[in-house]
Amino acid sequence: MEKIKTLIIGSGPAGYTAAIYCGRASMKPVVYAGLQPGGQLTTTTIIENFPGFREGIDANQLMGEMRQQAENFGAEVRDGSIVEADLSSRPFHLKDERGNEIEAENVIIATGASAKYLGLADEEKYRGQGVSACATCDGFFYRKRVVAVVGGGDTACEEAMYLSSLAKKVYMIVRKPQLRAAEIMRKRVTEQENIEILYNTNTLGLFGENGVEGAHLVRFKGEPNEEKYDIAIDGFFLAIGHTPNTELFKGQIDLDDHGFIITQPKSTKTNIEGVYAAGDVADPTYRQGVVAAASGAMAAIEVERAQ
Ligand code: NDP
Repeated sequence: MEKIKTLIIGSGPAGYTAAIYCGRASMKPVVYAGLQPGGQLTTTTIIENFPGFREGIDANQLMGEMRQQAENFGAEVRDGSIVEADLSSRPFHLKDERGNEIEAENVIIATGASAKYLGLADEEKYRGQGVSACATCDGFFYRKRVVAVVGGGDTACEEAMYLSSLAKKVYMIVRKPQLRAAEIMRKRVTEQENIEILYNTNTLGLFGENGVEGAHLVRFKGEPNEEKYDIAIDGFFLAIGHTPNTELFKGQIDLDDHGFIITQPKSTKTNIEGVYAAGDVADPTYRQGVVAAASGAMAAIEVERAQ
């Protein structure tokens, strides 16, 4: 049984920042990088809103730098995953995918969240070429263009509002006859001149020679008045929710209704002493690399102060 003082699960900005801080504080952090080393950011191309890079920075390069920085300051980063976690008593018992057993004094959960996609083959085909699940990250590339946002919840409305300030026109593709979002958000999007809401509408596919040039849609799918039609768009944004990666901790740690880890206010502490949560796994609201990095720093400081 390997004994680890500070185990960090996940290698996005939250995990690596926690590792840098823990490493510098001589807390011998071990990071399990998980199935997607570098985390969600590595699915995009250029990051323009992470401070410190005047021209923006390639996402993979940024995450590579963070990893190297963590290693340089005392973290051990392993390319592997934690597959079992027993948080019922401290030290905590965990197992990695090779069957190695770990006893950890502190655990920082930074496993992130995954954007939901519709499951269309075209989403894969055009990923990074017009398909995005983050308007704040990629909206800038669609100034004065036409985009579509899929979803009718608060996130979709927020993303549509954000995009409407940049793009010429924003379609919202909503599968129901109404928006699910809160009243105030519904009011905002319906009153916004350059947003057009396509109710009762589903997406069948995307088309385009060089990236997304349009979407195939269907209105009243499966009904007698079903109608298929196309719209011309340059960008296709998914906003149908995120799934936090908390499967491993279900039933052990307090989660909200959407599965995000609940942390104490202004803290990364969970309901279990010695277990902290940082980044998107505990953040249904902001979901930004820089915010995740900041909460990784908070987690490391909280671990250190609890010693
Ligand atoms: P929600 O689950 O609230 O909404 C998801 C939306 O996507 C719904 O309109 C849903 O449609 C639609 N959808 C889901 N799956 C599909 C699909 N396969 N095809 C087409 N449409 C689909 O997720 P959000 O991310 O919007 O919000 C998550 C939580 O965070 C909510 O509690 C929300 O209130 C909160 N939030 C709050 C904010 C704020 O207060 N400022 C900002 C952002 C989020 P349908 O309605 O038909 O199910």
